[in-house]
Amino acid sequence: MRIFTAALATETNTFSPICIDKRAFEASLYAPPGSHPETPTLCTAPITVGRQVTAEKGWELIEGTAAWADPAGLVNRHTYESLRDEILDQLRAALPVNAVVLGLHGAMVADGYEDTEGDLLTRIRELIGPEVLLCAELDPHSHLTGKRIAAADFFVFFKEFPHTDFVDRAKDLWRIAVDTLEGRVKPVMSVFDCRMIDVFPTSREPMRSFVDKLMEIERDDTDVLSLSVVHGFMAGDVPEMGTKMIAVTDGNREKGQALARDLGLELFAKRGTFRMPELDERQAVAEAIAATAGPVVIADMWDNPGGGTAGDATVVLEELLANGVTDAAVGTIWDPMAVQICMAAGEGAEIPLRFGAKSAPGTGNPIDGTVTVISLVRNAEMRFGESFAPFGDAAHIWHRGIDIILNSTRAQSFDPSLFSVMGIDPRSKKILVVKSTNHFFASFSKIASKILYCSAGTPYPNNPAKTPYRRVRRDIWPMVTDPFAAERGAA
Ligand SMILES: [Zn+2]
Repeated sequence: MRIFTAALATETNTFSPICIDKRAFEASLYAPPGSHPETPTLCTAPITVGRQVTAEKGWELIEGTAAWADPAGLVNRHTYESLRDEILDQLRAALPVNAVVLGLHGAMVADGYEDTEGDLLTRIRELIGPEVLLCAELDPHSHLTGKRIAAADFFVFFKEFPHTDFVDRAKDLWRIAVDTLEGRVKPVMSVFDCRMIDVFPTSREPMRSFVDKLMEIERDDTDVLSLSVVHGFMAGDVPEMGTKMIAVTDGNREKGQALARDLGLELFAKRGTFRMPELDERQAVAEAIAATAGPVVIADMWDNPGGGTAGDATVVLEELLANGVTDAAVGTIWDPMAVQICMAAGEGAEIPLRFGAKSAPGTGNPIDGTVTVISLVRNAEMRFGESFAPFGDAAHIWHRGIDIILNSTRAQSFDPSLFSVMGIDPRSKKILVVKSTNHFFASFSKIASKILYCSAGTPYPNNPAKTPYRRVRRDIWPMVTDPFAAERGAA
């Protein structure tokens, strides 16, 4: 067997001011054929798992390019087209193949392409013809379009959010691919449109039980090869945005459709109950001040660079300053210009500085005042599980009693080492402010006396009922109360 694999992925928040080009991919991951590292990034596990699987089988794996850019705004048109064509040229040169196994994200939007993954999959299908297996692993924060369903044989999405299972799901993808190539199964994909958009953390109920149930069905029912919830991505203003349920069965379309529909309606019935309870900045800061022990972690959950925002909002910091809080540390505020000024001033300097809130409306006001430059670190990194996440040249400044980290590479606050590398002992602070929706939880919960999820300002379109979409369809919850009402009336 000859199998082609490649990866092309990013998550596009179409409301983000941070547009990206080839350099953003090179900064995160750009690996020409054969140069992908041994460990996968979020959307490239099909390549590393594929190496193991094909080696065991004695099959030939032909690697194409793998490219991943951290979440941001619109992708430059030429950048998308050249990465796409690079992969298509590699596939053309590799033909004939028995299968194409891809790592995608599913929420990439490029200038001129609302459905980049649909475009890529369709072009691949045209090259390989109707008989060759085409499958992919994707992130559930994506858009499942009709074009993609028509082009591919089946998809497997991560089940967990935070996405702790991207390697396990790549193993599922390959297991089904191998069983198909060896003639044991015939995957058929059935999709149900839940006509809603929501946020589904699996670290809490009711989504925890729902995902456990999906895995139980996969284990117990031999007709069912894979079940996926496509959460949808509310920051992508594209026509087919929304939550979908997928059932991949062994040749049993009728059963798959019934199962996808039943599970999809179960999700729909629980709409509005999945998100964590959110406080505004006043409630969060008041609750943190009132706590008897620290550190209280306030997650500035919607100014999360991991969701494509700039990460420079000052709303929570302004609230701390307004309350005269002095025993707090804020990590991070993205401001490359202010970092440069601090670097020029040097450690120990006391300087006038404007920082933060320069990227977009709804992020608060820039902070103006005298700051002390405490420490400077070039190419700073924090721990992230087994590896490290860079946050660029960084400055630890002190302003009116608060320690603040300014950074120059946008980064989600994954780990308390973010503070310690800048010389701040996170355990010694009463209040820690971090920029992350949910990924921070795993490591910060180990040192926090309390965790508060704070929705401050409007850096991210987190309320679909109010988001000024131009392209998203209107017939889904919460834009309408009951999108299935008309269908029931007609029945
Ligand atoms: Zn995701």
